[in-house]
Amino acid sequence: MVRLPSPFRIMSQSLSTTIKDLQKDMYYGNEVLNRVSFLREDTEFISKSLFHPSTRFIFFNKQNPLVHKNFSNMLTIMTNGDNQICVDQIEPGQPDNIGYIGNLQFLARGLMSHLPEWKDILHTWNEDNKNMDKGLRSGGKPTFLFMGLLDESVGLDINSLKVDCELNGDEKYLDHQGRYQGIAYYAVDVSGNKELCRNVVHFVNDTLNQKFDTDKTPEENGVFFTHSRKHFLTFEPKEASLFSQGAMFFHWLGTNKFCPGCGHPTIPIHAGGKLYCTNEETVTSSRSNSHDATIAATSATSATNASSEKPDAKSVCPVKSAPVSNVSFPRTDMAVISIITNRERSKILLSLGKRHFSSKMYSCTAGFMEPSETVEVATKREIWEETGVTCDEVNVVMTQPWPFPSNLMIGCIGIVDFNGSNELIHLGHDNELLDARWFDTSFVRSLIYPERVSEADRDFNPEGIMVPMGQSIAYNLIKMCVDYEEDQNKEEYKL
Ligand SMILES: [Zn+2]
Repeated sequence: MVRLPSPFRIMSQSLSTTIKDLQKDMYYGNEVLNRVSFLREDTEFISKSLFHPSTRFIFFNKQNPLVHKNFSNMLTIMTNGDNQICVDQIEPGQPDNIGYIGNLQFLARGLMSHLPEWKDILHTWNEDNKNMDKGLRSGGKPTFLFMGLLDESVGLDINSLKVDCELNGDEKYLDHQGRYQGIAYYAVDVSGNKELCRNVVHFVNDTLNQKFDTDKTPEENGVFFTHSRKHFLTFEPKEASLFSQGAMFFHWLGTNKFCPGCGHPTIPIHAGGKLYCTNEETVTSSRSNSHDATIAATSATSATNASSEKPDAKSVCPVKSAPVSNVSFPRTDMAVISIITNRERSKILLSLGKRHFSSKMYSCTAGFMEPSETVEVATKREIWEETGVTCDEVNVVMTQPWPFPSNLMIGCIGIVDFNGSNELIHLGHDNELLDARWFDTSFVRSLIYPERVSEADRDFNPEGIMVPMGQSIAYNLIKMCVDYEEDQNKEEYKL
């Protein structure tokens, strides 16, 4: 009997490159920027990067990014300064690899000189951020998020920018203490300020008209804040990741405006990276009677080393006074998603969810993790609850951020040992699916690679069954499984 490689051997054998590539190129999960998250609380760095001419800004209205639909790239990215580089503007003979600033990316340049209120907005936010001001997001002020640095670690060629600086002047990248060099990216949520929203749209539209010598309206040029999933799924991969980062942070910031512990307003500190409760109450002269109040009092008093007056448990924030953390960290909801197969990979279980009935899209099993569950246990539970199948072995193979609104999909392979019972399908437990079936892997391969289907087999799929779109982790898990089954059948991979 042929001994089949375990899933761990997949990594080191035939498909090592494939799986590595799948992991690296995951839609919404590309490593576009070096997040340098420790610099978010460095107010000197934040001030310097905020006003630097090379700094890029991506505008959002809540989670909806500003796009220009009639251009090849849709996400609109703007700069502070006027003379910043665009990939398609590099002169022949000049270095043409300055790293990612977009594939034919359109940059609206010169926020500082063309948007009259911009300088004041930056100054106000910079002071508020530095002082952790209670009014950080009051009165229609935009919310800023420092996203990270485009630097050499993610492919930026600093030398070509240096050459451009010498030839054409103007600072083309930020140099912080000689240690952090690159182009800073910020996301800006302008949803609280309708006038600013409108002005930003008109600024981009004017730049488009100038570039193409036209006189069109924003509607005609397709400049708007989009909420369409169609656009979110057609950004080129790196722009998709920039969109995803901004959208997920702004969803978190926008849905946590009040402290879960005491109900006081929260503010985004550390350049948008953390939420902070504005309740300043630590000790008062009020009496506290309950056991909880005594605990809160002890905690608050020891934390502040303040007077011996008893704090009022009703006014002291239990979140802020907790010894571990006084802020809310960015939220990611974990969900497990699995490709279910047998040890030989000759069978794949795919299921049809109720909302995909009309499209006949069969996909992987997925569900949210519960507190105090391992990924492996959650995957086995979801598989059993939805399909009735008992899975023997689970391995994590890849993950994907999914910004609708703030999920992390943990992609696993679940192996079922067929024994006459484990593999039996039963949809009656939680009644979430319309159908689930064990398909032959060869059939699923034809769905993944329709171009390989011969003329004689062109009617192989009379029901019109579909697989998920290529941007999804579900598609990649299915592809990985059919590729592996094919590879292991090659003589050289047999052990
Ligand atoms: Zn609080």
